[in-house]
Amino acid sequence: MTGGRAFKSGRELLEEQAWDSALRCVQCGYCLPVCPTYCSMGKESASPRGRINLVKLAAEGKVDVLQDLSEPIDLCLGCRACETACPVQVPYGHILEAAKEAIVAERAEGATWEERLRAGILRHLFPYPRRLRLAGGLLWLFQRAGLHSLLRNAQFLAKRAPAPFHLGTALPRVEAPFRRMRRGSLLPARGPKKGRAAFFAGCIMDEIFHGVNRSTVDLLRHVGLEVTIPKAQRCCGALHAHQGMRAQAKRLAKANICAFEASGAEVYVNNAGGCGAMLREYDRLFQDEPEWRERAARFVEKIRDISEVLVHYGPPTYRKAWEGVIVYQDSCHLRNVQKVVEEPRQLLRSIPGAVYVEMEDSDRCCGSGGIYNLLHFEESIKILDDKMKVVAKTGASTLVTTNPGCHLQMRLGAERRKGSAPLRVRHLVEVLAEVCLE
Ligand code: SF4
Ligand code: SF4
Repeated sequence: MTGGRAFKSGRELLEEQAWDSALRCVQCGYCLPVCPTYCSMGKESASPRGRINLVKLAAEGKVDVLQDLSEPIDLCLGCRACETACPVQVPYGHILEAAKEAIVAERAEGATWEERLRAGILRHLFPYPRRLRLAGGLLWLFQRAGLHSLLRNAQFLAKRAPAPFHLGTALPRVEAPFRRMRRGSLLPARGPKKGRAAFFAGCIMDEIFHGVNRSTVDLLRHVGLEVTIPKAQRCCGALHAHQGMRAQAKRLAKANICAFEASGAEVYVNNAGGCGAMLREYDRLFQDEPEWRERAARFVEKIRDISEVLVHYGPPTYRKAWEGVIVYQDSCHLRNVQKVVEEPRQLLRSIPGAVYVEMEDSDRCCGSGGIYNLLHFEESIKILDDKMKVVAKTGASTLVTTNPGCHLQMRLGAERRKGSAPLRVRHLVEVLAEVCLE
């Protein structure tokens, strides 16, 4: 269901929200070579041009939203590499979200149990920090009891196991709930204060990669920023928007705008490419609500990725050298939506002792795609295995990325490289914390 829009058919939603944008496509095909699904599947309906054309035809009532559009749209990774190649700036991300919303509206009655479960988790777990913390605590207990190791060793299950099993084995050890930073904290800068940053903790980041969040806050303090962690912040809503749940995404966006406005900070910092992309596009959610659109635009002006902030307020001072070869895999949403390309590389190149190697096709999606790897495991693994072959050619011992989905996917990729030299997968912040912090 889509809140107040539920009474509209999928075709009507497409006509209202996506038809104009789809008309801008001149069908030139420049986007095809950069599209991972077109490259791996080799058919027009798996390309940006094909998907846009189907959206246009569905908006005109010439093809059916469910029968003809839903599969090509479901198989899109949402990486938005196509936008970077498009000479006429077709807003593919906007078309994709409208198509998802239309498909959800059409499926409302006949949704499968998996779709209902997914929608239920997004609606009843992600918007609530306490429930997320409880889920994170249960995961910690599960790992403490040794069940995680048991699962990792249960090779006999591996072939038949569903996607969550495989991704579950790639989870890092989560931190104990009592060690987590408190929301609502205000932490002083180290040395002379240069300003105040409000930290966006995220949901998956805060539960599964909490150590990365703590290091992010420590690095911000290290470069002279006082850090506040707004208590009333919520999940960014990216997963909701990408699953066609726009009304829920707007509710979360409003909560975050209020929480960060009250922080008094000059800059709002996040460390997850996907969350940051959503936060940077909050103004797009409110085209039909002028007051909120203005507030969202002011919010968007202050959003920065951690790498941008460390370059701007830094450089960080290093206290030890790094050993080994580092490669960097771009988070699609950090690169293609937030347009943050150079800063992570600049930071990695500046680490004393590190040999930074640029990887071929580092801008090509790793197959994670939000929850794409959960929904389309086989397709995502094909893309991942190709990626890991490219990583192997670099001789790297450390692979760096900046998004929790990519991080998990790469950990799975590293585990699948049986017999190869060990490969550590780290968030950019973990590498910097290791060489900068006491
Ligand atoms: S978002 Fe990515 S997968 Fe989807 S059409 Fe664009 S390039 Fe292809
Ligand atoms: S590059 Fe842009 S205009 Fe050309 S086919 Fe792709 S989306 Fe359409």
